[in-house]
Amino acid sequence: MPDAHTTSRTSRTSTTVNHADRELRHDRSVAPPIYQTATFWADDAETFAQAAVERRGQGFYTRFGNPNHAQVAAIVAELEHAETALVSASGMAALTTAVLALASAGDHVIGQRSTYSGTASLLLNLLPRLGVTTTQVDQTDPDAFARALTPRTRLILVESPSNPLLQITDLRAVADLAHAHNALILADNTFATPVNQRPLELGVDLVWHSATKYLNGHSDVSAGVLAGPAKLLDRVWDVALLTGATLGPIDAWLLLRGLRTLPLRVARHNANGQALAEALERHPAVARVHYPGLAAHPQHALAARQMSGFGGVLAVEFAGGHEAADAFLDRLRHVRRAVSLGGVESLAVRPAAMWAGMLSEEQIVASGVPLGLVRLAAGTEDTADLVDDVLTAADSL
Ligand SMILES: *Cc1c(COP(=O)(O)O)cnc(C)c1O
Repeated sequence: MPDAHTTSRTSRTSTTVNHADRELRHDRSVAPPIYQTATFWADDAETFAQAAVERRGQGFYTRFGNPNHAQVAAIVAELEHAETALVSASGMAALTTAVLALASAGDHVIGQRSTYSGTASLLLNLLPRLGVTTTQVDQTDPDAFARALTPRTRLILVESPSNPLLQITDLRAVADLAHAHNALILADNTFATPVNQRPLELGVDLVWHSATKYLNGHSDVSAGVLAGPAKLLDRVWDVALLTGATLGPIDAWLLLRGLRTLPLRVARHNANGQALAEALERHPAVARVHYPGLAAHPQHALAARQMSGFGGVLAVEFAGGHEAADAFLDRLRHVRRAVSLGGVESLAVRPAAMWAGMLSEEQIVASGVPLGLVRLAAGTEDTADLVDDVLTAADSL
């Protein structure tokens, strides 16, 4: 894609979120209706037979596709500069379906050591049971990916910035490596959003999101989405019919409504993330702040090269370890202790305390996440109120 074209599309994300689904609206209502139906009727045998085999269609049976899914997919595809997109019931449904579609017994998959706990559990626990071998590597070192490659490597799963350590993967370098070895590369773009980063433009084959987070943005829907070339998503769609993780039409409609304000919200999340990181970085109770927008982040230059904003999530290590971290969480007033991120309300958690359901204690230690690390997800509240909240809590430690 020529640069000029890329730039003009980039600057128009706010237009995209409001208009990319326009041709998929079938009446004159400004806000699209909710297609709360499990099935669709056909006039004749030929139309019915066609609808039954159409991939990512929207008029046969809702597990096969629904108009509200198609509207979401049209917007996400345009935001990610992808040919097409596929909607599912959660971020994990999107990832697991894609991996089941693209890897088979005997194949090898490479992932990151610092990665979302569900992705780590897929790599460590589920895939090995299905005869797929996996390796987790240090994402900050492209050579670590190179060393992990085997003749059986089919897939590389990357996540940048990573959850919860905010480490950066050189997406272009790892994509080039994957393609030189006939492997596919999938990127989790949940933390960055397509407003801040478009992995497909850097050579990534398929992007996935927990749409539960920024894409929806209001902490009221669980959803996932995949974006990429139709050729790959056709293979994923065939398996999606079998995993059956179908997003309900009402939830698809809520996600559509959330997407309309994505660029507006992300601009505020970026500003709040940066302000909180800078304020906490200087506080004596804080040992270290992980945020790619800080000049002190060891990969700040790489982040600035492949991202146009740094997002609303930061991770904070307290000098007083996990007890100080819990005390800090206890004393926050605006920021609430809850899992998830990317909503308009600020949330914070101590990741090591919430992973016990998915990972063993050894697996948590091996992930490199310090026990006293707090993940802070800045919402869209007034910047001064959030800064005041975290500094007051940190002062009391
Ligand atoms: C939340 C999250 C997921 C999982 O998404 P769900 O919608 O909860 O299934 C995957 N990756 C990242 C980076 C996340 O933050």
